[in-house]
Amino acid sequence: MVRQEVNIVWFKRDLRLKDHLPLSSSIDQDLPIILLYILDSEYVNNPHYSDRHWQFVKDSLKNMSRQLKLYDHKLSVLEGDTVEVFKNIHTKFSIKNIYSHQETGLVFSYSIDKKLKNWVGSEKISWSEFQQNGIIRGLKNRDDWVKKWYAYMHSSEIVVDLSLSKTILFKSKKFEPTYFMNLGNDSHIQSGGEDLAIDILNDFISNRSKQYSYHISKPNESRTSCSRLSAHIAWGNMSIRQVYQAAYHAKKNGNKRNLSAFLSRLRWHCHFIQKFEQEVEMEFLPQNKGYISLRRESNPAYIKSWEDGNTGIPLVDACMRCVKKTGYLNFRMRAMLVSFLTHALLQNWDDGIQYLAKQFTDFEPGIHYPQFQMQASVTGINTIRIYNPIKQAKDHDPKGIFIKKWVPELSDFPTEYIYEPWKMNEMERSLFGLKTSYPQPIIDLSEALKKARKVLWSEKGSKDVKNGKQSVLSMHAVPGRKEQ
Ligand SMILES: Cc1cc2nc3c(=O)[nH]c(=O)nc-3n(C[C@H](O)[C@H](O)[C@H](O)COP(=O)(O)OP(=O)(O)OC[C@H]3O[C@@H](n4cnc5c(N)ncnc54)[C@H](O)[C@@H]3O)c2cc1C
Repeated sequence: MVRQEVNIVWFKRDLRLKDHLPLSSSIDQDLPIILLYILDSEYVNNPHYSDRHWQFVKDSLKNMSRQLKLYDHKLSVLEGDTVEVFKNIHTKFSIKNIYSHQETGLVFSYSIDKKLKNWVGSEKISWSEFQQNGIIRGLKNRDDWVKKWYAYMHSSEIVVDLSLSKTILFKSKKFEPTYFMNLGNDSHIQSGGEDLAIDILNDFISNRSKQYSYHISKPNESRTSCSRLSAHIAWGNMSIRQVYQAAYHAKKNGNKRNLSAFLSRLRWHCHFIQKFEQEVEMEFLPQNKGYISLRRESNPAYIKSWEDGNTGIPLVDACMRCVKKTGYLNFRMRAMLVSFLTHALLQNWDDGIQYLAKQFTDFEPGIHYPQFQMQASVTGINTIRIYNPIKQAKDHDPKGIFIKKWVPELSDFPTEYIYEPWKMNEMERSLFGLKTSYPQPIIDLSEALKKARKVLWSEKGSKDVKNGKQSVLSMHAVPGRKEQ
């Protein structure tokens, strides 16, 4: 029997139907299309991922399906080994072309891509992988990167005309989406979907962005004054170009300072992913190889207290408990969690990186790894930033609202003691009638921070780290720009 010829659009971290070059390119061809998403078991079992990610993906796929239905199209969602899924489709149809975006992922997802590349090569199937968000594959340095990035952001959005195509639903008993079907719905986690992303972007630009710069560092207020688009961008509900152009045009009508600050962060998003694209070894090694020989002895009890939000340092615990429950924290509080682990507790950068990846709904390998390493001070080229959680709390949570919400054991404490509850003696506690199960701090914070300053500066000044600096700079430094 002659198998029907088809093209495949393979959706990965690009779960949308607008500004989508693989989709529009396949529509331009005169062949029926299978619109495909595969939940590969390697993703599900990978220690960076957790159910909150798949819940977000499931929402996004549902939204795409709803939109596709208007044109009588269907999305094929399958679970299993990626190459096996493609092979299975190829036994029933004859795949001519595969269209997808390039993915800057972890080593395991890159190896899935490599296995598929080998297979499509052996079957003479063509696979077009398109650049996404201005990230350039195979780049050796950053000399022209910023210029090219801006040119890309100002180029026209890709128009996708769904009325022009014919799609085929591919079903397979062998690869039924059972994991998705059994997934619960955690209402504390942000929901996914392209339509929702557009609403959130519009609401941010018209209303919430007015306090953006003022609230960005505050753990509580940032939750409404920041865009909250990160998960939508990370899973591709919107392209960076769509977000960039909306904010860029809105800026002409006012609110310039806030929207300019926001636009810069969209560039940082891609800047960090470009770093990771150029140096995937960052998943296993510090950017500055001089730090390899400076590895510290891990302390499992410290790491466990940090993971559980039970260090006895209120802002640290509030942040950890909050991110575990909601999947979100603002930038400064993420940086402070990393600083506490790697500076105050002197643990290694990779002692906490997977744990936080699992918590962030917006987990994006290309931002998470370079940011984590930068905050852990293992690049050798950035300013060392040691966050003092007591100062951070006084500056950014001056009434203790965030702490009291996430560390309810302290909710009856007078505000002057909320940052350092250990300073309240037994007599004062009984005067206030306070009983609390909140733990004593696992370290003497001021001693620990003093020690951290000494250790970190001495590490940075070591011969190995100085030698490692040049290769970091030549690969990643953007000419004329300060590192963030
Ligand atoms: C240790 C650590 C790990 C991080 N891991 C991730 C991650 O896995 N995924 C992720 O999207 N962000 C990550 N960030 C960056 C940043 O914290 C989040 O992007 C931001 O808090 C998301 O909130 P928002 O969408 O409201 O941001 P907004 O302030 O509204 O910014 C808009 C967009 O710009 C990008 N952005 C903002 N700040 C940064 C930044 N400092 N670096 C790079 N891009 C930025 C994001 O795409 C964000 O959605 C990490 C930061 C640190 C310190």
